Amino acid sequence: MSERIIPIVDHRYAASVPQVPLDAALDRRQPLDRLQRPLHDLRISVTDRCNFRCTYCMPKEIFDKHYEFLRHADLLSFEEITRAARVFIDLGVRKIRLTGGEPLLRKSLERLVEMLHALRTPEGHPPELTLTTNGSLLARKAQQLKDAGLDRVTVSLDALDDAVFRRMNDVDFPVAEVLDGIDAAHRAGLGPVKVNMVVKRGTNDAQIVPMAERFRHSGVILRFIEYMDVGNTNGWRLDEVLSSEQVIERLRTRFGLHPLEPNGIGETAQRWAYDDGAGEIGVISSVTRAFCSSCNRARLSMEGKLYLCLFASHGYDVRALLRGDPAGGVAAIGDDDLRAALAQVWTQRDDRYSLLRGTAAGDAHRAERRVEMSYIGG
Ligand code: SAM
Ligand code: SF4
Ligand code: SF4
Repeated sequence: MSERIIPIVDHRYAASVPQVPLDAALDRRQPLDRLQRPLHDLRISVTDRCNFRCTYCMPKEIFDKHYEFLRHADLLSFEEITRAARVFIDLGVRKIRLTGGEPLLRKSLERLVEMLHALRTPEGHPPELTLTTNGSLLARKAQQLKDAGLDRVTVSLDALDDAVFRRMNDVDFPVAEVLDGIDAAHRAGLGPVKVNMVVKRGTNDAQIVPMAERFRHSGVILRFIEYMDVGNTNGWRLDEVLSSEQVIERLRTRFGLHPLEPNGIGETAQRWAYDDGAGEIGVISSVTRAFCSSCNRARLSMEGKLYLCLFASHGYDVRALLRGDPAGGVAAIGDDDLRAALAQVWTQRDDRYSLLRGTAAGDAHRAERRVEMSYIGG
């Protein structure tokens, strides 16, 4: 098939421009990738900046005052994000998660929420809209976000102990303010609020049971995430991963738990309920139990690069299509061509890094430069 659009090179990650099939009508159906996975979830990272320096995500030594964050002009505008989201919805997306960096640092984010909430799926509903945040600004913004149309929030919180939490966020941020944010989200109706705890053996694993105690009976769903080898800067080591199985074992020394059915296809967490009716928890076994076979997620970075896997080493330059890039010889295109280009990218997807981890192919991939979590948003 002949194609137009010339690849250009990005200064941080080589990013080819998606190719537009000459016959855009070829891709009218909702596309499946090479492993027969549909496109359902879109994560949109709205900023590469963050007010935390979590040691496993943005270590201070790398993300210091010399680190070059993107200029505002490089970021997709709210209009560009909304246009891309509309086309993604046409391709099958039903759930959109805003992330970052710290998404609440993006000025007037509630306006973007409003614009995305005004979109409609082919069935006539707004897309499900969620947000992942470190919670530091949530107490102030929860109600505004709810009013703008946000459905739910996930708050990242790695410890209840103030000293452990301050050490992990590495900017001396107090845990009490994040807990206030969680309460405010709950009160504003952004529930069920989920709390994500990345478990790092030797760093915060002693916090597993206290965190469970704190959120039992609260309506908040606590989820334990295996520490992942994402990006190239966090010095990841396998011996610092505490498997979900070990997390459950530790919880079971204290509480009775029984497994629950998954919520739906593409659900990443294995769900458990307390036997005494105190609510639900989840474990996300990104390292020990790959869920690539049902991974239906695409990720759009703040500057408009499309990534098909958390462990991808390159993205596709969607901004060049949305905006045009005269220097790269790329013209801005209409929605039909954009849809065809994105469909083409999705149908070529065969990413499954977690399944390959530990194999020769996985090791070769690990050796490449991979996108950072703070850039792509988890
Ligand atoms: N700043 C927001 C936050 O912390 O919620 C959103 C972006 S952050 C990159 C999204 C999620 O990625 C957080 O829950 C964070 O804990 C998780 N994360 C970052 N690095 C990780 C790693 N190496 N392994 C597992 N999860 C990680
Ligand atoms: Fe910031 Fe979130 Fe990364 Fe922590 S995990 S450094 S809060 S982007
Ligand atoms: Fe999806 Fe990639 Fe994670 Fe597999 S490794 S579940 S393909 S993001």
